[in-house]
Amino acid sequence: MLNVDLHCHSTVSDGLLPAAEVARRAAANGVDMLALTDHDELGGLAAARSVADDHGMRFVNGVEVSIEWGGLQIHILGLGFDADDPSLNAGLSSIRSGRAERAQRMSADLARIGIHGCFDGAMRYAENPNLIGRSHFARYLVECGVSKDVRSVFESYLVPGRPGYVEHRWATLKDSVDWILGAGGVAAVAHPGRYKLSRSELRRFLGEFKDHGGRAIEVVSGSHSADNVILFSRFAREYGFMASRGSDFHGPGESLVDLGNLAPLPEGLIPVWEAF
Ligand code: AMP
Ligand code: MN
Ligand code: MN
Ligand code: MN
Repeated sequence: MLNVDLHCHSTVSDGLLPAAEVARRAAANGVDMLALTDHDELGGLAAARSVADDHGMRFVNGVEVSIEWGGLQIHILGLGFDADDPSLNAGLSSIRSGRAERAQRMSADLARIGIHGCFDGAMRYAENPNLIGRSHFARYLVECGVSKDVRSVFESYLVPGRPGYVEHRWATLKDSVDWILGAGGVAAVAHPGRYKLSRSELRRFLGEFKDHGGRAIEVVSGSHSADNVILFSRFAREYGFMASRGSDFHGPGESLVDLGNLAPLPEGLIPVWEAF
């Protein structure tokens, strides 16, 4: 049984380790096939691939595209695409722009409740200033003692209805799938168990995703419970989606699940990696 991990982050987005370190750690953990899937950015792929090659670990180009659907931020994984594709690169660049301005507004909103200096504080955690995001704010809020850990930050801050949350224009579902397919990749819904969608909204979302050309869904994920795995296995069969497996590792000490340290895919699903 192959150990496949098709979802993780480096300092190119909001991970804690450089891309080469992520690949080294995956190889050390016994991962046979890895995709690095930084948010909205392909800058770590070459370094990770080079380390993967040195360790005889298969490497798949990946990205996690931020989209907005039904007023929610949803994540679509692109896997196995050509990283030089101009439309994909232009599309990702278009959603990266505006993150700094969003961060300024998040910082102003936190200042309103007496938490000051968040923009500069978060920026210190963002090795890639173009990719400043909520995780960097969360690390700063832990540093200031506002919350005890990153997970707790997202219970009281940075989420809809809470201080530090700011609406943002991400890609549309159709754009994200078009960019990924146009670059020869497979589009997969990331951690479907994480979204605040009712069962019927989720069905509508999966139907639209499939109509646009989406072909896979993360079933085994670092953010899924055992019940989520059962539910999304059922959805994969029902919609004819291939199934993916990914830790969503962001860094030691911050992520509960380490690279490759996941249950196998349930029997009878078609692994997305058969497409690579
Ligand atoms: P952004 O792209 O700036 O909106 O930031 C989204 C990132 O915040 C996600 O990729 C996660 O890394 C992190 N995040 C969001 N919600 C949570 C949560 N409940 N617990 C931990 N991290 C979260
Ligand atoms: Mn993240
Ligand atoms: Mn995600
Ligand atoms: Mn992720």
